[in-house]
Amino acid sequence: MHWQAIKKTPKSFRVTPHLLDYEETCAHFSWETIGRELNGLPGGKGLNIAHEAVDRHANTHLAHHPALRWLGPDGTVLEYTYTDLQQQSNRFANVLRQLGVGKGDTVFVFADRIPALYFAALGSLKNGSIFCPLFSAFGPEPVYQRLQRGHAKVLVTTTQIFQQKVEQLRERLPQLQHILLIDASDDLGEGHWSLPQKMMVASEDFTIEATDPEDPALLHFTSGTTGMPKGALHVHKAVFTHYATGKFVLDFHPDDIFWCTADPGWVTGMAYGIIAPLVAGITCIIDSEPFNAERWYKILEREQVSIWYTSPTAIRRLMRLDIQPRRLYDLRHLRAVHSVGEPLNPEAVIWGQDALGTAIHDNWWQTETGGIMIANYLAMEIRPGSMGRPLPGIQAAVIRRQKDHSLEVITEDNVEGELALQKGWPSMFRAYVDEDTRYRKCFVDQWYLTGDIVRRDGDGYFWFVGRADDIIKTAGHMVSPFEVESTLMAHPAVAEAGVIGKPDVLLGELVKAFVALKPGTVADDQLRLELIGFTRRRLGPAVAPREIEFQNQLPKNRAGKIMRRLLKDRELGMPEGDFSTMETENE
Ligand code: ATP
Ligand code: MG
Repeated sequence: MHWQAIKKTPKSFRVTPHLLDYEETCAHFSWETIGRELNGLPGGKGLNIAHEAVDRHANTHLAHHPALRWLGPDGTVLEYTYTDLQQQSNRFANVLRQLGVGKGDTVFVFADRIPALYFAALGSLKNGSIFCPLFSAFGPEPVYQRLQRGHAKVLVTTTQIFQQKVEQLRERLPQLQHILLIDASDDLGEGHWSLPQKMMVASEDFTIEATDPEDPALLHFTSGTTGMPKGALHVHKAVFTHYATGKFVLDFHPDDIFWCTADPGWVTGMAYGIIAPLVAGITCIIDSEPFNAERWYKILEREQVSIWYTSPTAIRRLMRLDIQPRRLYDLRHLRAVHSVGEPLNPEAVIWGQDALGTAIHDNWWQTETGGIMIANYLAMEIRPGSMGRPLPGIQAAVIRRQKDHSLEVITEDNVEGELALQKGWPSMFRAYVDEDTRYRKCFVDQWYLTGDIVRRDGDGYFWFVGRADDIIKTAGHMVSPFEVESTLMAHPAVAEAGVIGKPDVLLGELVKAFVALKPGTVADDQLRLELIGFTRRRLGPAVAPREIEFQNQLPKNRAGKIMRRLLKDRELGMPEGDFSTMETENE
């Protein structure tokens, strides 16, 4: 299906974007220049993410500029300036130092999006420790898996979460030495400390540990969409990518109010919910609450959010409501909306233009890449359904794996193949913890292989086809689940779709769609036939789904991604395997 490109004209910019001419920016780009726009640690003692995010601003005119604005559940608003953040993160770093926790030790936070999480993140980085945040809704087993594989030495959590989910794991986690309880007024015995007490007596001054750009800084587990989550390790130099993407993709300018809806338990919430906006010295909104359409629109209005970063699943949830937000809310401050995590249906890109006043800018990256790698830039034409073009400084290619394990780089346009990135960018993961063989397998020659199938058009735009494992092979055709899902989404009754290949004797695989409908729509055979006809007319009979099953909700993981592997396992009556990252119904 053809969607018209969305052209940008200089008149449509309220603020002149940093990247105005893609080719020119790429031609002049170098990571060395990016490095020069950052500070480095005083005295040439290396590079530290938290210094770039906090201290370098706290020592300038931004000292009293709001860094974080935290929106609590009951209307509470807490604001922290760059100086506040410097002091709180210094205190936390001192708490760690006093406990004997040092460089290379891993500090986990297992809590809701509360201020302590943010102080702990930045304080751990200052201390040279490795920081790893976990979704607060995880149950004991996924928590155990991650604490164990991440060699957790410190866990920051609340008393209730600790008692319900961690206490039972203690014996299996001999490396876990310290539990810092965010809400305990007194220590609970050896190794179980009251964080407020320790913070109170800790100094507000801290000299950041000398960290090398290659020292480990962040540990993030992948979303578990395709299998057991992998622990990707990142180094302090990743901040080059955070900064460069904040500048060229998200287009941060000094007065921006930025809101990233992702939880830090997902890499997006750490890289863009904390680091990138702080490195840019702007104000970052944190909402403590889960998705709620009305609350979200009110936040956009009241906080005067100018740049918004969210996910396709959230956008689809807003679209499903069929309301015209601009009639009900004042969204005039919003100048850009970005999305990541799953393919963004063309329908959703266009919806943004109408409903929010700005088309949605899709971008692509992975936990492993540490930051945005392919993006739609504000000044560049959007081709709905395309992830955009590679970040300046990133070489992306479409490759074919050969039988002898070598790679062929596909030079023709519009040919499907695996997306590969030339290795060596600053935020490239440096390891999968405890899975060295798996890590090494991701690299062939100078390429990192992403596992995603894409095509590149004649103008260098990349189009997502599907994850390599999800591509459907039916009667000799290769079918992109994303294309089928997007076509279904174009029907007014459809809120969400997940498409799988179901084994079939005749076809090899049969295209089967699971569809969630918009509220008020009746799921019956007539609609089923209509949807089959609708997709056949657009995609042809070979690609259109043969079977459609209606579901109230599609299974998703905590990062909000549709779990096709689970749809398939259920369809085949297979055991559901690892579903530690599943979102529970109605969340
Ligand atoms: P796991 O690796 O554990 O199966 P995951 O791949 O979902 O989980 P993430 O690192 O959070 O974990 O997600 C990266 C993947 O998400 C990408 O490889 C891609 O498949 C998908 N993705 C991210 N952004 C986009 C996008 N803009 N368009 C299409 N797919 C996207
Ligand atoms: Mg992955």
